[in-house]
Amino acid sequence: MFPPQHYLDLEHQYSAHNYHPLPVVLSRGQGPHVWDVEGKRYLDFLSGYSAVNQGHCHPRLVQALCEQACRLSLTSRAFHSDKLGEYAEFITRFFGYDKMLPMNTGVEAVETAIKITRKWGYEVKGIPDGMAKIVVCTGNFHGRSSTVISFSSDPSARTHFGPYMPGFLTIPYNDAASLEEALQDPTVAGFLVEPIQGEAGVVVPDEGYLSTCKALCEKNRVLFIADEIQTGLARTGKMLACDHEGVRADVLILGKALSGGLLPISAVLTDKEVMDCIHPGEHGSTFGGNPLACAVAMEALRVLKDENLAENAKKLGTIFREGIRQLNSPMITLVRGKGLLNAIVINNSDPEAAWNICLRMKDRGLLAKPTHGDKIRLAPTLVIKEEQIRKAVAIIGESLRS
Ligand code: PLP
Repeated sequence: MFPPQHYLDLEHQYSAHNYHPLPVVLSRGQGPHVWDVEGKRYLDFLSGYSAVNQGHCHPRLVQALCEQACRLSLTSRAFHSDKLGEYAEFITRFFGYDKMLPMNTGVEAVETAIKITRKWGYEVKGIPDGMAKIVVCTGNFHGRSSTVISFSSDPSARTHFGPYMPGFLTIPYNDAASLEEALQDPTVAGFLVEPIQGEAGVVVPDEGYLSTCKALCEKNRVLFIADEIQTGLARTGKMLACDHEGVRADVLILGKALSGGLLPISAVLTDKEVMDCIHPGEHGSTFGGNPLACAVAMEALRVLKDENLAENAKKLGTIFREGIRQLNSPMITLVRGKGLLNAIVINNSDPEAAWNICLRMKDRGLLAKPTHGDKIRLAPTLVIKEEQIRKAVAIIGESLRS
């Protein structure tokens, strides 16, 4: 092992500067903890941006990965594998959809959802070719491909990456009346929404927003597309964040914790009427649906259920938010979230305040990252225990006081 600066220097010199990481160099993870190269232990309160819901290096996931890796890792979709059909049946039954399309990263799954929604818009709804629109929300984050940044409202995602893809209509988040108005346009094929806006700083919409939007979509024959890449898979205290309002998305997008953080796995789930619009050659990916991913994703979903991680997230999320409120810190203007997807909003005119607080938390053994300047997202793994949540609250309190 080298001192941490060695690894920072290597990244700085040879890797693109497309991230601004906290200065900590990690080399090991287990359950809710990670360790740096000097052996210091931290509670991970980022969890790979909510990909490591099942905890680091979950033994059942590692076993599924290793067993499958020793047998067969990749066939491409030129041939069948003995895993894809099994996985497709498993995940569609798990979430109650007819069909699944497997991809790798989150943004690829979002792109997939956009493509199949447009295809459905033309071939089933009858929108004139080239006219289909998808309604999106301000403050969204759906990834960073050139199509997806075309409807971002974040200047750092967009500036100097144009020209932008047309066909998106932006309305305010948490505003069903605006959706109702937008849906008067008969060329709208879909409404793409995050049930909670994670990257924007864990913005939780009003109760009833999602169910009202879903009803509006149904009324206007528009597909309700839920991006549950960050909010899904037990993170918010239910298997899907839409479950809090009993909403079943027409198109469901999953990623991140679908692999428990072991490898990039994403998926789009929908019913036959939509998925059957896709034919051979129209969409795909070399790695999408590879046997390794199929084996890991099935085990990742089983672990969520077997270990009651949604219930744990619900219970500990309440304890966590209550603990943060009881700190009564003048530095916190707001704590918000659902389950174990939470954020605090920092009350300080210094634009570096949230970053500096994260550095203090790091020194005390807790890792988290600011999002959008004055907000700190706090999203531990869902295998965390109550005493570790209480310890985290104490660390956050000390860091705010310092
Ligand atoms: N959608 C949402 C809601 C996300 O939070 C993210 C990533 O943070 C993405 C899409 C993009 O996922 P990926 O980084 O795997 O492409």
